[in-house]
Amino acid sequence: MALRTIREIGDEVLNKTCKEVTEMTERTKTLIEDMFETMYDADGVGLAAPQVGILKRLVVIDVGDGPLVLINPRIVATDGEQTGQEGCLSVPGKCGDVTRPNYVKVMALNEEMEPVEIEGTELLARAICHELDHLDGHLFVEKVIGDLRTVQDEEDGE
Ligand code: ZN
Repeated sequence: MALRTIREIGDEVLNKTCKEVTEMTERTKTLIEDMFETMYDADGVGLAAPQVGILKRLVVIDVGDGPLVLINPRIVATDGEQTGQEGCLSVPGKCGDVTRPNYVKVMALNEEMEPVEIEGTELLARAICHELDHLDGHLFVEKVIGDLRTVQDEEDGE
């Protein structure tokens, strides 16, 4: 395993649309391991492949309930809304308030390329929406209500 460099806002790789993963290769398995290591090292709760410069539809998430790998994810249902503070490992030192659904249901493939259905509420729903936005080249800063703030102390990034 190895840490990968997290791309930061201004890097055009973060504005691109990612391609679907068609097969699980050794290379992709290594990418997933590296993404978890990189995310945990940075104290994040989620990381999308384009954040480490790879334009694949793959995200890793861990909001404290254990690691989740979502390959070719798509949101199939949402409910309610929540507005709360969000940050991003690609936008270091900044945070802002974003409104997201309070519940999401996602269809995806796991690391065995088997179909999985994941449901999340609150922080997990927020993390899923945030990470999936990365796959289509979107950053949370586009959705911030009011001003982007400077982080005062330690906070979770996604
Ligand atoms: Zn992010």
